[in-house]
Order: sequence, then C-alpha cells, then structure tokens
Amino acid sequence: TKEKSLNFIEQIIEEDLKNGLPPNKLRFRFPPEPNGYLHIGHASSICLNFGLGLDYNAPVNLRFDDTNPAKEEQEFVDAIKRDVEWLGFKWDKELYASDYFQELYDWAVLLIKKGKAYVDNLSADEIAKQKGTPTQPGVHSPNRDRSVEENLDLFERMKNGEFAEGEYILRAKIDMASPNMLMRDPIMYRIINASHHRTGANWKIYPMYDWAHGESDYIEQISHSFCTLEFLPHRELYDWFLDQIYDNEKVRPKQREFARRNLSHTVVSKRKLLQLVNEKHVTGWDDPRMSTISGMRRRGYTPAAIRNFADTIGIAKRTNLIDVSLLEFCVREDLNKITDRVMAVLDPVKLVITNYPEGQEEWLDAENNPEAEELTYRKVPFSKELYIEREDFKEDADKKFFRLTLGKEVRLKNAYIIQGESVVKDANGNITEIHVTYDADSRSGSGTEASKRKVKGTIHWVSIPHAVEAEVRIYDRLFTHENPDGNKEVDFKEYINPDSLKVITGYVEPSLKTAVSGDKFQFQRLGYFAVDKDSTTEKLVFNKTVGLRDTWAK
Ligand code: ATP
Ligand code: MG
Ligand code: MG
Repeated sequence: TKEKSLNFIEQIIEEDLKNGLPPNKLRFRFPPEPNGYLHIGHASSICLNFGLGLDYNAPVNLRFDDTNPAKEEQEFVDAIKRDVEWLGFKWDKELYASDYFQELYDWAVLLIKKGKAYVDNLSADEIAKQKGTPTQPGVHSPNRDRSVEENLDLFERMKNGEFAEGEYILRAKIDMASPNMLMRDPIMYRIINASHHRTGANWKIYPMYDWAHGESDYIEQISHSFCTLEFLPHRELYDWFLDQIYDNEKVRPKQREFARRNLSHTVVSKRKLLQLVNEKHVTGWDDPRMSTISGMRRRGYTPAAIRNFADTIGIAKRTNLIDVSLLEFCVREDLNKITDRVMAVLDPVKLVITNYPEGQEEWLDAENNPEAEELTYRKVPFSKELYIEREDFKEDADKKFFRLTLGKEVRLKNAYIIQGESVVKDANGNITEIHVTYDADSRSGSGTEASKRKVKGTIHWVSIPHAVEAEVRIYDRLFTHENPDGNKEVDFKEYINPDSLKVITGYVEPSLKTAVSGDKFQFQRLGYFAVDKDSTTEKLVFNKTVGLRDTWAK
C-alpha cells in the first residue's frame, strides 16, 4: 500500500487488481526504438515503468522495438542499455521485437487465411488518397478481395525478397469507413532492403509498429503497456490486432497513454537530436548541452537528480512544457549533498601579500563537504602570490560591496584576513596586480582572537605557484527559445543559441590534479563542475554542470 495518492496510471493498475488480475501477473516494459540515444523524455518513461516494477514488485522488460533496419543500430542498443543501468534500474529480460519476426509472420499468415489481411500493390500516395478523410469514408483497394491463395503466395514471395521496396505491402482488412483513420486497412508489413543489426539479411519484410508492438506485448505477457498520448488513436488497432490472436488463458495486455514530457529550451526527439549531431551543431550525442541522458551524465547531472525530477513532475494526461530550471534545481539539490567544496579561480587577477615572507608556503585545512555525515578535511597550499576572481576586487567600491577593496578587510576562505593596499596597472589602465597585507594571527581555525574577528566578506583563491591550469567549458541553453519545437512555421534549428559554449582557462587547487572523468565538485561561490571525459593527467577539463542558484534571466 502506498502513502501518497495514486496517479491515474496506478489507479488503472489498482482497478485491474481489484477486478481479478493476479498481482503476480503484473509485468511492464520499457520499449525504446534503437534509432538514437535516450533523452530526458525517455527518462520519464523509464522512471514510470521501472518505478511501477519496484512499487508492485513486478518484472520490467527492456524491449528494443527494432522493426526498422533503415534507422536502427547496435551503437544505439548499447547506449540505451548503458543509460537505463546508469539511471539505476534493472530490467528483468532484455528482449527484441526482432526475436518475434517469425512468430509475427506466422500470425500474419493466419490473418490472411482468416480473410483479415491482404497483399496490396498501391503506392503510398494512392493509399493515402484512397483512405479518404475523417469525415468521408475511404474507398476499397481493387486488391482487397484478392483470394486467400493468391495473398499467401504473394506474401511468401514478399518475404523471399522477390519484389522491390514499395512494390507490395500487406494490409489488415478492417474498415475503410471507420471514423478512426488508423482502422482503414492499415499496413502490417512493408519491404525494406536494409541489413538489420540483429537479423542481418534474413528478412526482406518488416512489421509496422502497430502490428509488432501489441503482439510483442502479448508474447511477453505484459499486463500494462504504457505509451505516450499520440498513440491514443492507435489503441483501437492495438486491440483489434490482439483480438485476432488472443487466447483466453493468457494475460491480455492493455495499452494506456500518458503525456509526453517536454523540457524547455531544448528538443526531446531522437530525430531532431540526430540532426544536431549530424549537422555538427553539437560534438555528439553526449555533448553536455544535449537533452540526452548521456549528455546530462557527461555534464555532471546525477541519476538521483534525474529520477527525482521525473518523480517531481510525475505523470500527466496533458502534454506540457516543463521548465528546465526545475531539472536544474534537482541537480543542484543532489550535488549540494554529495560534492566536495574546492577552490578554483576562473577569471584570475594576481594578488600579492606584501608582508607575507618570500618563498614561504603553508598547507591549510579546508573542509570538504559540510553536508556530509562525517566531516573530512584536505590541505590546500597558501603562499605570497594568489589568484582571486577579477570581479572580487573593486578599486572604488560602495558600502554594499563586501568583497575586496582598498583599505578594507576581507577573509580569504580557509586562510587569513587581508586588507587591500594598492594596485598595479598596465598602460591601458587594467589592473594587473592587487597588493594587500595580511593579519598573520587571523588564520581560520587557529582559535586566536584575530581569527574570530568578523569581517563582512569571504573570497576564494588559489596559490599561484601551486595552481593547476584547467580548461573549463561553460554552457548556456542550447536554444534561445523556450519551445524551439513549438512553432511549425519555424525550423527548430533557427533557435540555436550561437553562444551556448564558452571555453576558458581557469586555475584550480592542486588537490584536483588527480580528479578523473565523472568526478564532481562544487567550485566555491561559482557552481558545480564535473571532470569531462576529454580530461587527461596533462590537461584537466571541467564542464560547468549548473550554477549555485538559478540566475537564468527569463
Ligand atoms: P522520439 O521521438 O524521441 O524518437 P519515441 O517515442 O519515438 O521518441 P521510443 O524509443 O519509441 O521513442 O520511446 C520509448 C518509450 O519512451 C515510449 O514508450 C515512448 O512513449 C516514451 N517516450 C519517448 N519520448 C518521451 C517523452 N518526451 N516523454 C515521455 N515519454 C517518452
Ligand atoms: Mg517509437
Ligand atoms: Mg521515434
């Protein structure tokens, strides 16, 4: 029993259980087509299906809907498995619609024998014309009454590869006057001359989605087949196909629909993401700006954050646009819990402590993560010359400026209180050095009176002789429009943000020298950063995951 109120999907399941479906017959599936990488929309569907599996202690299959060899690849299969696992879910069985090609073919033969399917040779255009309009019945194909023998012969020859693509198709014989256009003799099979990533050249004909999906659910004895709303009109066909083969002893799968989840400032469609990759608007499927799970992983998002986001938005009956700042909120919330606080300076200006002994260095204690159950510390080096952020100093500051200025005190994080004394400028008037003095008794944690002195501001820094240079990639929204996909008149690529990536050189404390791909940190006062897969021991590369707070101007 669950504490929270049931969503409409859970209500459907509860109702079925009440009406006699044995709990041990519950079975769900997540059915991606391996024609691209999974995106944040899929994450919702994964969390829904696998979440139901956990809640009801029911198995969840990972089924690849691989019925179109022209678009599907092993690379995508591998990426999908990696992403589902990374999100933290375990499937019961790894299955493929292509495993059912023979069974589906045999059932199609059965339909022909029952007079429920026929081979047609009209072109796609002719069929579309023939179908009529929603308010007008369609017309029968001249081939609709072809004899069973002739249909069986042609269908077998389609299978044997005797015809060219488009020459023949198999259609279900349903109702050309149905108010549901999908019921007007839909296509069940078409000829495709392409090598399939699993069945190779074995098959020349491939089942259409509607024919393959419900029957695959039936073969796997899926009790509830959840899909997105655009499949609502397909449900009638899903049921019709099941009617043709259904055996009373078995579980009859039920298709139910929920709203597609769209995220603002991005696109969630494999086809469109593929265009971004192919046309090199991004560096690949795992570009940290992409809405793909692999892109978000590379950017530094965590599985817990994505799962929490999916839980927070829940499932809905109506399609809407979710603001990406909600996802970022979830990311920040998780990273706040798990990351160590470290110091990095991304827009450096040199600071010289004039009264600090030349050549001296100290290793100071720095707290790793104040949110951790057990506090741990590391050492950070301090010396006479430091980098601080250029924007943390102002020569002429007003009373509200609590960072470094001339004649006032500020604390260097984990270190000493300093006071601004003077600046050195180049010929153009740009500040090249800031000279300060420090209070040698004020070291953080030293317990002295001076160390307890209250100063208004604290700024971060790195010691110049110890600093490690790093490439830092700063990202902005990939699209300038909140719904780049929302205007049918405008190609979504028109809204690509030309400034979505900025590469800078930053300086990080030396403890980060050994950080490896996937490691995550909070750069104090700057945001969350993750080590990129391009990072090496010679050259560190960081991705900015998200800022410390939502600064996105609407
Ligand atoms: P795309 O247009 O990106 O290819 P799709 O629906 O064709 O999406 P599939 O691989 O068929 O992609 O999707 C697998 C499952 O994920 C389906 O059940 C589908 O309904 C669901 N899904 C896909 N996109 C979303 C989304 N934006 N929100 C929620 N569920 C989604
Ligand atoms: Mg699909
Ligand atoms: Mg698709």
